[in-house]
Amino acid sequence: MELSALKTTSKRIDILHAMNIYSMEDIIYHFPYRYDIIEESYDNEHMIIEATVISQPKVFFRGKMSRMSFEVIDRYGNHYQVAIFNRHYLRTHLSLSTTITILGKCQNNKITASDIKMKPLCDIAGIHPVYSLKDGINQKSFSQYVKKAYQLLKSELVTLVPEEYIIKHHLVHKDIAIYNIHFPDTQEDIKQSLKYLKYEEFLQFQLTMQLTKFNRYQENGTAKNIDLDKLQNFIMNLPFQLTHDQSVAVKEIVSDLQKPQMMYRFLQGDVGSGKTVVGAIALYATYLAGYQGALMAPTEILALQHYKTLSKFFEKTDIHMALLTGSLSMKEKNEIYEKLNNGDIHIVVGTHALFQKKVNYKHLGFVITDEQHRFGVEQRKALKNKGQQVDFLIMSATPIPRTLAIALYGDMDVSTIKTKPAGRQEVETKYIEASSMKPILKHLKAYLASGGQCYVICPLVDESEKLEVRSATQIYEAMSSYFKGQYKVGLLHGQLKDDEKDDIMQQFVDNQIQILVSTTVVEVGVDVKNANMMIIYNAERFGMSQLHQLRGRIGRGSQKAYCYLMSDQASDEAKERLHYLETCQDGFDISMYDLKVRGPGEVLGEKQSGLPSFLVGDVLKDYNILSVAKDDATQMINAYQNHRLYAHTIEGIVEKLKENNEYVD
Ligand code: ADP
Ligand code: MG
Repeated sequence: MELSALKTTSKRIDILHAMNIYSMEDIIYHFPYRYDIIEESYDNEHMIIEATVISQPKVFFRGKMSRMSFEVIDRYGNHYQVAIFNRHYLRTHLSLSTTITILGKCQNNKITASDIKMKPLCDIAGIHPVYSLKDGINQKSFSQYVKKAYQLLKSELVTLVPEEYIIKHHLVHKDIAIYNIHFPDTQEDIKQSLKYLKYEEFLQFQLTMQLTKFNRYQENGTAKNIDLDKLQNFIMNLPFQLTHDQSVAVKEIVSDLQKPQMMYRFLQGDVGSGKTVVGAIALYATYLAGYQGALMAPTEILALQHYKTLSKFFEKTDIHMALLTGSLSMKEKNEIYEKLNNGDIHIVVGTHALFQKKVNYKHLGFVITDEQHRFGVEQRKALKNKGQQVDFLIMSATPIPRTLAIALYGDMDVSTIKTKPAGRQEVETKYIEASSMKPILKHLKAYLASGGQCYVICPLVDESEKLEVRSATQIYEAMSSYFKGQYKVGLLHGQLKDDEKDDIMQQFVDNQIQILVSTTVVEVGVDVKNANMMIIYNAERFGMSQLHQLRGRIGRGSQKAYCYLMSDQASDEAKERLHYLETCQDGFDISMYDLKVRGPGEVLGEKQSGLPSFLVGDVLKDYNILSVAKDDATQMINAYQNHRLYAHTIEGIVEKLKENNEYVD
């Protein structure tokens, strides 16, 4: 229903648009983000009382600031001295014997009021929803819009939740849930509303995921015919033996490739757990089956490293590889396009340049993305569409606890590498309560003198990359002058051109640079086995998974590695996080901890994570509801397939998926 039904001004409609509200339905789904509860309270910190004015207010000015004070008496006969700032204009309303409501803090019968309402408490008591709004529409008028929208729509609200689940889970009905989220009488009303809304939201999500997954299994994918002897031979000739988890992951992936259905698999494993070689084996299997494979990395540096790593793995095979990144010349690019088109290139590694319009593949059969959380869903789709029924593998070093991963990525299969290659050492991690290197300078000097190399990671700056670069440059200059004539210092940040970055990185690899000052661009970076010390400035600003990822850059050889987490302004909670990292080296535990403390958005990287954002549900706090919804969705889909039950709901979701091109008949 259109917003014109509100019968309000076009200016206000524009404001609603700016709030992402385009229909009457949008209005009733714009939920309050909190509730103010006004009831009599004698809590000194949150005092809310009704009282009668018993002295003339006095006002004192200092410049533009004012302080007004007066005396009141409450209904129990208690006297209070009330002070309020910058509200002197209320003076004329505060005549003797006026009954008012005072909100504020109280100490020794002296109230510092945060607000004064010119009404008795009973007139304003209750639960008041607070909406996030834009200038020009206040709480009261929005509340009226909601009322109107609700009146018009309540009889046609469409619910996804079958009646038997309403009964089974003791849920309120949708019309009540929607009404009470906006106009609750009690806290219990809010609780019941939220319970319903979260459940419905999760149920919709699960139905969508599971139907997508089911649909993929129906698709006529391409069963790849893989010469398993040759594949086994390739694996035997690798420079090391696969770990148990690597072998299992390989089996799962190869079996997916052989099936006629599309693979859509998530391969997760801690930094250094050895995902790349698993990817390489899968690419080799694809090649053996006569298809092209692509590996997509989030940065040029990483694409280059993958390219080099794969080149080594494929040295003794007949595979033709190419590296496709934005920094190639037009001529080089065209040559690669040509060869991808005619099938001369078997495996291509690159950045998002891989799925630009001009790129056409002869018979792309398999795509791997590394660190998928850095790719948008749209980009992934674009790449997938480059071939027909392309098998799809996502590698991620941000491990998500298995149960959660399955609930979240309900449309994917998951392979997990938990065991690490033998001989991998722990990175000795220490939290240093300081803002400068002083306390660790001695260790750093000794370490450099012994021939090692060091990373220095600069503070994360929220506002802009520019500020980050500035802080990195400052640290770089300070270190350069300190170590002048002794060691060479390099600077790496996101605003350098790609070839400049590669150049710096190469110098670090070749040990021409001993100290690499960098922003988080090294987070997913190349292996430098001789670099085994890392110093991280303002560690409190980073997420734990990110810190863990960063320190994964060191300790990649056989030498002992040290990571210093510096922070002189950590909150108690941040201190706890940093201490946790000192003792814990397991990416799964760390991400679980991070997930609990900071929420999934932070862990996976907001927005681009592909992680669905829920309006009311919280995947972690409401995990129980999510998992119930998951089972119910499975039941509903089964009942639909066997007995055509819930046809309206299920077919409605399928219809939507088709509109978004995510479903094939
Ligand atoms: P990830 O991508 O999971 O962070 P990599 O694939 O880069 O990890 O592997 C880290 C290092 O461990 C690489 O140098 C790789 O060659 C090595 N490696 C991988 N698997 C094994 C194994 N089974 N045994 C010994 N070394 C391994
Ligand atoms: Mg990797």
